[in-house]
Amino acid sequence: MAYDFDLFVIGAGSGGVRAARFAAGFGAKVAVAESRYLGGTCVNVGCVPKKLLVYGAHFSDDFEQAAGFGWSLEDAQFDWGQLIANKNREIERLNGIYRNLLVNSGVTLLEGHAKCVGANEVEVDGQRYSAEHILIATGGWPQIPDIPGKELAISSNEAFFLKALPKRVLVVGGGYIAVEFAGIFQGLGAKTSLLYRGDLFLRGFDGGVRTHLKEELEKRGMDLQFNSDIARIDRQDDGSLKATLKDGRELIADCVFYATGRRPMLDNLGLENTGVDLDERGFIRVDDLYQTTAPSILAIGDVIGRVQLTPVALAEGMAVARRLFKPEQYRPVDYQNIPTAVFSQPPIGTVGLTEEQALEQGHKVQIFESRFRPMKLTLTDVQEKTLMKLVVDADTDRVLGCHMVGPDAGEIIQGLGIALKAGATKQQFDETIGVHPTAAEEFVTLRTPSR
Ligand SMILES: Cc1cc2nc3c(=O)[nH]c(=O)nc-3n(C[C@H](O)[C@H](O)[C@H](O)COP(=O)(O)OP(=O)(O)OC[C@H]3O[C@@H](n4cnc5c(N)ncnc54)[C@H](O)[C@@H]3O)c2cc1C
Repeated sequence: MAYDFDLFVIGAGSGGVRAARFAAGFGAKVAVAESRYLGGTCVNVGCVPKKLLVYGAHFSDDFEQAAGFGWSLEDAQFDWGQLIANKNREIERLNGIYRNLLVNSGVTLLEGHAKCVGANEVEVDGQRYSAEHILIATGGWPQIPDIPGKELAISSNEAFFLKALPKRVLVVGGGYIAVEFAGIFQGLGAKTSLLYRGDLFLRGFDGGVRTHLKEELEKRGMDLQFNSDIARIDRQDDGSLKATLKDGRELIADCVFYATGRRPMLDNLGLENTGVDLDERGFIRVDDLYQTTAPSILAIGDVIGRVQLTPVALAEGMAVARRLFKPEQYRPVDYQNIPTAVFSQPPIGTVGLTEEQALEQGHKVQIFESRFRPMKLTLTDVQEKTLMKLVVDADTDRVLGCHMVGPDAGEIIQGLGIALKAGATKQQFDETIGVHPTAAEEFVTLRTPSR
């Protein structure tokens, strides 16, 4: 049977655009449907605008530290409206780049909501298209728990477009998005509290990293409230919000920001017409080749709920395009040793196993650790400490994990990701010459195990 397209991609986000462009480059006839914004979450309401706001928030540190280097500044003023307008302009530029990338690679771009009407058929704005393969790359959506007053709270989607910087913010959640936004609000001058229902935020990260960041955020005056959860939110007469906690305490704020998880975006996607199954968490169930339970339909990215990061969605998109249209170049995605950063202040960079995971997996571990005041701060009154940590297998000498909390952690950890992928040993780390004077050189000069 002749189809309109070889591949029909639903969603022009990180994974969808990558799969579509590569498939078209391999000679396939490809369409992409996008209902909201080109580039998806990452470009519009995720990684990119978030990082721009993190840069913005960092200036308060820079201004504070400048005095130690002889600079005196007039009272610095911050204009939220200006930052958001500039950010919006940059995102529009990126949207245009994504459009050109798709169109120039020969992909048919359909701007509208796509719905599956069969295992090989998709409908966009009343028009039906047939395709040999359908790729669902519809991403995720923020989830706010169903509490009274939830409509008064915002998620990351709205935070990027607030009309004014709130004076008092309650950030709810313990994942990286909550921690990053708490740092953004605090850095820009809002009185910020971070509420998390567990004992300590950033579950899944190395225990030493989590504790170190907690201490650093407290030094900065962030109000961290663990084992705390909001029961209801009410608007007060003066326009402020009152959050009543489950333990009865009341907190007053101008903005309550929830980052308590993301659900797969399946709204009106027509999965009931396809035979695509969901897993027990509600994400699309796929096998190792991203094949759903409907043979002609694949899924990648946040909607499958594996590792919800842009570079992972990109890798999955590329793997699908290669397997379908250039099988000789196919390589499975390697989910081991994915380097990642949390753009908190100070930031975290991490790759490989945490100390806890290494022990759980039965490794006999050696821990190398260093805590020091970054050189840049020695001329200032700032008492922030950097943490660097290596988790090493005592039997094989292989470095299992590298963890850092401190300036440029995300930049530093990328290179260590290559070392871990190559299976580097501690001895090879030791034999690597450092770059002096940097913080990064500490990773190759950690001589004595602390445990
Ligand atoms: C606040 C925030 C910060 C983040 N920061 C980082 C970071 O620093 N680093 C990192 O690696 N990751 C980060 N992420 C995660 C990253 O954004 C996602 O992992 C990534 O965007 C997933 O890509 P995707 O292709 O699966 O989906 P998305 O990028 O979400 O794209 C899905 C697209 O599908 C479209 N769509 C949905 N349904 C339909 C439909 N029925 N018809 C047509 N179109 C549809 C959507 O409009 C969207 O454009 C962040 C996420 C958030 C929310």
